[in-house]
Amino acid sequence: MQILVTGGAGFIGGHLAQRFAADSHDVVVLDNRDPFYDLDIKHHNVEAGREAARNSDGSYEFVEGDVRDAELVTDLVADADYVYHQAAQAGVRPSVKNPRKYDEVNVDGTLNLLDACRDEGIERFVMASSSSVYGKPQYLPYDEQHPTTPVSPYGASKLAAERYACAYSEVYDLPTVALRYFTVYGPRMRPNMAISNFVSRCHNGEPPVIYGDGTQTRDFTYIEDVIDANMTLLHEDAADGQAINIGSTDNIEIKTLATEIRDQIDPDLDLVYEERHDADAEHTHAATDRAEELLGYDPDHTIREGVSKFIDWYRDNRDWYEPLVRQS
Ligand code: NAD
Repeated sequence: MQILVTGGAGFIGGHLAQRFAADSHDVVVLDNRDPFYDLDIKHHNVEAGREAARNSDGSYEFVEGDVRDAELVTDLVADADYVYHQAAQAGVRPSVKNPRKYDEVNVDGTLNLLDACRDEGIERFVMASSSSVYGKPQYLPYDEQHPTTPVSPYGASKLAAERYACAYSEVYDLPTVALRYFTVYGPRMRPNMAISNFVSRCHNGEPPVIYGDGTQTRDFTYIEDVIDANMTLLHEDAADGQAINIGSTDNIEIKTLATEIRDQIDPDLDLVYEERHDADAEHTHAATDRAEELLGYDPDHTIREGVSKFIDWYRDNRDWYEPLVRQS
């Protein structure tokens, strides 16, 4: 079975491609190695996929290219059974500076893939969406019926993309599922995120810096739980045509997260507070009942367990990963 993973040199796509290869599938990764963060991490992601294929009966091919290139996308989809679309211009704050690029990559790129899939009879098109589609909460936790009023160009682009995916399912009978991720973390995560930053600072005897008063809440979701949800979609069709929340069941305040990390690494450190960024969501919290019902989703990792696994990984990989976090 051949699986096309777009954005497979990135954090989530890298873990997905690695798992598919380890499970003896034939994986093709399409990624343009966007320099949004240091390319060394993408190199490690690709190597992890290749290594998994070497140790299994699977295969791994890396294609450097762009989801905006319709011809290339069409060629790659022609050979695929499943498409896992993770490529995106990610990041809420930078989207405020350059909204048009988010539209081109996240919306037009997704449309290129959907068009190619429609013509090829793909088994399933699974795309990464985001909690950012919800915007300001009218109630929490967000369930999938919550109004979608994104407050950033990034959130708007993810919403448009997932709406197209749902429409293609309805109109062209293409099985599509959008997974709305809630702040994913774990080994090889993007270096410019709160958890990698807190861990790095604590390891260097520096207090973690919290933007705002630290009462913002998040569902930090461990990467393995996200990958498990994606794996289910290789055989489960109950969610076709839908957008589903994938979060943790362990919603916490940012200052609790910082405290947990500080306590695991260097309990003597203080916490430091700086001005909050306007584009950041105040609270995100997922209701995961639909994922549980349709996909049997049952996240394994509490924040303490996930953070502890990440810190272990960080210590083992500090030589190459830490400089990238420090410069981000
Ligand atoms: P990432 O930036 O690590 O991975 C995205 C990958 O897409 C990168 O390797 C990048 O090079 C590639 N890419 C970007 N533009 C491309 C283009 N035009 N053509 C081909 N490849 C391109 O991000 P991630 O954290 O792994 O996120 C993966 C997906 O999950 C994204 O769609 C993101 O919007 C979504 N998501 C992530 C989170 C999270 O917490 N990490 C939360 C919600 C949603």
